[in-house]
Amino acid sequence: MSRFVRMNATDAKSCLANKVALVTASTEGIGFAIARRLAQDGAHVVLSSRKQANVDRAVAELRTENLGVSGLVCHVGKSEDRQRLIETALERHGGIDILVSNAAVNPYSGPILDTPGEVWDKILDVNIKAAAMLVQSVVPHMEKRGGGAIVLVSSIGAYSPLSFSGAYMVSKTALLGLMRNFVPELKSRKIRINCLAPGLIETKFSTVVSSRSWRKELRKDQATLEKIMESMGIQRVGQPSDCSGIVSFLCSPDADYITGETIVVAGGAQSRL
Ligand code: NAP
Repeated sequence: MSRFVRMNATDAKSCLANKVALVTASTEGIGFAIARRLAQDGAHVVLSSRKQANVDRAVAELRTENLGVSGLVCHVGKSEDRQRLIETALERHGGIDILVSNAAVNPYSGPILDTPGEVWDKILDVNIKAAAMLVQSVVPHMEKRGGGAIVLVSSIGAYSPLSFSGAYMVSKTALLGLMRNFVPELKSRKIRINCLAPGLIETKFSTVVSSRSWRKELRKDQATLEKIMESMGIQRVGQPSDCSGIVSFLCSPDADYITGETIVVAGGAQSRL
């Protein structure tokens, strides 16, 4: 067997046993993969997204794998939904140890100069404010448990401005600043906070973006895709499972000395401001 086989649930030795994890936007894509991995590594995971049917489907799928998951509807842009998410986790599991803030929207494709005010409002509300509010809400409960771990899902776009989706990219850069600004206030509470910055990962989100932007051309145009791929260290599009192990690591005792960092999972794509 190859030395480089990805760790699985058995190898992980339940490094998150007895931890309670909230993962937002976790019924598909990267969030779903993260929820699955945290549960495989022993955590009780509370899944959530906007649609009950998606929550039911995702929870049912993970339960068939004998994973300890539950779920509820939470549109992260709605304060009452965020509150219910926290209260439900406390009622069901008695505490909160891990938060993965994964939800984001990108409702606009076009020059940043033309981006309407209402688009800015939505992007900043869902991508930034909701993440900040969720962190505020979980901190007192993590303190009661003696500490915790938070991961905010940003993007490689935080480092590499692209003209087709400027407001979204700005929100992803802002998440890095949000994370860094939380560090000093969370350190005395023994709460670590880090960011994940995925590159192009094969999900519905990236397909929707691609259908109305340069990525459409990119995927259609094999030569362009190959050129981009050449600039990367790994010659393939990423999968949600490429992101999930690193998040589990960041939430685990192995990462006890890591806070204020951003880990890029982008196949070696350029990732410096
Ligand atoms: P995805 O596969 O399209 O999944 C989106 C998930 O978010 C679904 O479960 C959806 O379920 C839920 N959702 C959407 N809006 C929500 C809201 N307002 N509140 C709560 N849940 C919501 O997306 P993804 O590609 O995994 O993206 C996840 C994160 O990774 C995002 O933060 C994105 O910016 C980031 N990212 C993705 C890529 C990529 O290439 N895919 C690259 C860099 C960063 P419902 O419809 O039921 O709400």
